[in-house]
Amino acid sequence: MIPNIRTGFGVDIHQLVSGRDLIIGGVHIPSDHGALGHSDADVLLHSICDALLGAANLRDIGYHFSDTDPQFKGIDSKLLLKESYRLVKEKGYQLVNLDSTVLLERPKLNPHIPLMRANIAEILEVDQDAISIKATRGEKMGYVGNGEGIQAYASVLIFKA
Ligand code: MG
Repeated sequence: MIPNIRTGFGVDIHQLVSGRDLIIGGVHIPSDHGALGHSDADVLLHSICDALLGAANLRDIGYHFSDTDPQFKGIDSKLLLKESYRLVKEKGYQLVNLDSTVLLERPKLNPHIPLMRANIAEILEVDQDAISIKATRGEKMGYVGNGEGIQAYASVLIFKA
């Protein structure tokens, strides 16, 4: 018997600029630069939205929450994640686990990871043990390494009981 499980993958990128808040995984991180975007530009939550939507074959975050729609301007991406997961649950699925990686040159993300995990676990209604967040840097190469951008990857497993 093939179990009713599916995997999903998501990736997101944002430009880093001065004068914007840096919000990652729903955590406001002290920084002299932040991510540019129509919403609060939470790159990690956006990659998780895409992984969840992809796992349930529900298109992508831009399809559901257009970056030209004024109702999403400056929106808290935790709301986008909640709504994405609602759509996944509507198809009868729930999350098994999430693994993710954020690529950012600075500041260091490790001190903030426990709170990010708590935020995401609460929204996705799972134990924090089901939420893995990793961080790495660009080793001075490319748009991550030179501080021009931030990127995140997320992978999920969902199942239908
Ligand atoms: Mg995004």
